[in-house]
Amino acid sequence: MEELEAFNSYLGKKITNPGLSTQFLRDGFHKAFSMVRQLGGYLGLAHAFTPFKGYFGQLDSFQSLGEFSDEVDFVELGLSADSTLADRIKDLHEVPFLVGSDAHSSPNIAREYLEIDTTVRDFGQLFQIILSGQEIKSFRGFPPALGKYFQTRCRKCGFTPGKNEGKTCPRCLEPALVQGVSNRIEKLSDTAKLPTGRAPYFFHIPLHLLPGFGPRILEVLYENLGSEMEIIHNISPEQLERFLDKKRVEMILRLRTGELEIECGGAGRYGKIKRLDA
Ligand SMILES: [Zn+2]
Repeated sequence: MEELEAFNSYLGKKITNPGLSTQFLRDGFHKAFSMVRQLGGYLGLAHAFTPFKGYFGQLDSFQSLGEFSDEVDFVELGLSADSTLADRIKDLHEVPFLVGSDAHSSPNIAREYLEIDTTVRDFGQLFQIILSGQEIKSFRGFPPALGKYFQTRCRKCGFTPGKNEGKTCPRCLEPALVQGVSNRIEKLSDTAKLPTGRAPYFFHIPLHLLPGFGPRILEVLYENLGSEMEIIHNISPEQLERFLDKKRVEMILRLRTGELEIECGGAGRYGKIKRLDA
């Protein structure tokens, strides 16, 4: 707690609105890193690939971090990347991954999560386990296409120009092209080999993002079948059929096997799950 207070007091001097998220820090990158280390904290790159504020959204390698390149404790994938995409960058093979980007407001808790096989209940030890990667059974996260920055897209007119570089939209000619994470990773990729020992990444989509799963239907499901996790992973098709029509049951079954079709997200807009009859 003391360390957190010390860090907050440092931030208070360097940030205009420390109570808001993603604020500009008026201090050298390396100074902030040193401060975290001095106080016994961990260094991680949050939503590492997203444009504008993500580390790999702007820079091309860990080497750009200079002396700190070996000190990054973890990389948080962000919603528009998964481990398979991120591992196409060889620099990242030794770096632990985290999912759970922005899963901190109450409706979003556990929209991404790690499955860990442990009896440890102490947060410090738990974090060590996460960083060692050894007891992580799986990553459960968004299919990258559902993320807000997956595909390169024009912010103004919505055009998706494929592999186009730069900021100018070839259709409306405005400087409004937002480079997608998929293009960005393709550009940085220097290996097709995946590292050994990385836990598998399974797609996990919150129920409210499925078409046809409005608040009323969800309430009926929670009341009769249990938690969202139970419904997504464990409830039998026969049980689901007691409360849902065939198409909705099929949606949940496809969610389990990763077979839902997705309209890609981009330029700050989430992707969408396609209806089964679309
Ligand atoms: Zn445009």
